[in-house]
Amino acid sequence: MLRDDLLHPVLGGNKVRKLDALLPQLLAEGVTDVLTCGGVQSAHTAAVAVAAAEAGLRSHLLVRGEKPQVPTGYHLVTRMYGSEVSYVSRAEYADRPAMMTARADALRRRAPGAKVAVVAEGGGEPAALLGLLRLVHWLAAEGRGGGSGGGGSSSSTSGTATTAGIDGRASHARRVVAVERLHRAAATPYRLVVDSGTGTAAIGLALAVSLLGLPWSVHAVMLAGDEQYYNAQQQQLLAGFMDLYGAELYGGAEGAVAAVGGVEEAGSAGAAEAGEAMAARLPLRWLPRRTPRRFGKVLHSDIEACKQVAQQYGIGLDPVYSLAAWELAAELAEAELAAELAVGAEAGSKAAEAEVEAGGAGGERPHLHPRVLVVHGGGALGLHGLAQRYPDWF
Ligand SMILES: *Cc1c(COP(=O)(O)O)cnc(C)c1O
Repeated sequence: MLRDDLLHPVLGGNKVRKLDALLPQLLAEGVTDVLTCGGVQSAHTAAVAVAAAEAGLRSHLLVRGEKPQVPTGYHLVTRMYGSEVSYVSRAEYADRPAMMTARADALRRRAPGAKVAVVAEGGGEPAALLGLLRLVHWLAAEGRGGGSGGGGSSSSTSGTATTAGIDGRASHARRVVAVERLHRAAATPYRLVVDSGTGTAAIGLALAVSLLGLPWSVHAVMLAGDEQYYNAQQQQLLAGFMDLYGAELYGGAEGAVAAVGGVEEAGSAGAAEAGEAMAARLPLRWLPRRTPRRFGKVLHSDIEACKQVAQQYGIGLDPVYSLAAWELAAELAEAELAAELAVGAEAGSKAAEAEVEAGGAGGERPHLHPRVLVVHGGGALGLHGLAQRYPDWF
C-alpha cells in the first residue's frame, strides 16, 4: 500500500495530487480567487479551501444542499479554511456549468480587480493529471534518494524517507506492506489499485505509466458511474491534456498520435484524436465494486470492515472510497498468492533466490514481492459525516 493518505494532515492524497500542478499554474496566471463546488462532505471543496489558503488565494465554495446543523469532517474543514461558503439548492446545482458561470460573473462584478478561476467539481481537470505523473515518476525512481522530491507537494516528506523498496520484514506476515519506491520498478508488472469518483486519479496514474514506459497496469473501481462514463472521462481528460501539453511532450498532437501508434493518418490529427488514440491504449481497467450500489450509499457491513482494517492494520479507510480499493486489492493479491503457491516449491525458491540476489527485502524467509499496490488516497474524514447520519454504527 502506498500511504498517500498521509501526504497531508487534513486532506489525504488524492485531492492534494490533483491540485499539485493546478495551484502553481493558477498562481502563475495571476488568479486571485478560485471557485468550485461539491457535496456537503466533499473532500474536494475542503482541499481547494486549504490549498487556496496556503497559496494566498481566496476560495469560494458552492455546497450542494442545506447548511448542516453541526459542521463536521470535510465540511468543517471547508468552513474553517474557505473564504466564502454558500449553500446551493439541488435544483440550481443540477446545471453545474450554468451555476458556476453565474457565480463567477457575480464575483467579478463584486470585485472588479479579481481574477477568478473555476476549478471543476472533484478536481477533474487535465492539469490534475500532472500531479499523478509526478507521483508515478517518484514511485518508479530506482534506489534511495532517487527522484527529485516528487513524492508530493510542498508538504512532502519523501526526502526523509528511511526505506526504499518494500520493507518486507515487519509486516510481511500480514501481507500488507507500506511502500516508498517500488522494487525493480521498470521490470515488474505492478498492478496499481485505486477507487474512482471522477476517474481523474486513475487516468493520471495510467497516463503516467504509459508515458514512462513502465510495465504496470491500473485497476480502478467504478464508484460514481458506469464504464461508459469513465471511458468518456478518459477521452475528455486526455484530449484536454494533449491540448495543454501535447506540443511540449510530442511536438504536437500529430507527434503524439504517431508516438502511440493510434491513427494511420497522423497528418490531420488534433488534440481530440490524440486523446482518443491515447485513451484506447492506456493500461487501465475499469472494474465494478464487489457489491455495486449507487454512489455514496454505505452499508453497515462496510463500517464493520473499516473498523476491522483499522484495528488489525492501523490503516484508516472510509466506506465510500478507499474500502472499495482495499477490497479489490485483497481479491487480486489473494489470486496472486494462490498463483505463486501453484508455481510449486522449486520454481518458487528459484524466483526467491533471484529476488535476494537483486537486493530484495532480506527478511528471514525470502519471498516474492507482492505486486498489487493500493494507492490509498485518503478520505477518512468522510467518516465524520457518516457518524452523524448513522451514530449507532460506530
Ligand atoms: C476524491 C477521492 C476519490 C475520487 O478520485 P477521482 O480522481 O475523482 O476518481 C477517490 N478516493 C478518495 C479517497 C478521494 O478523496
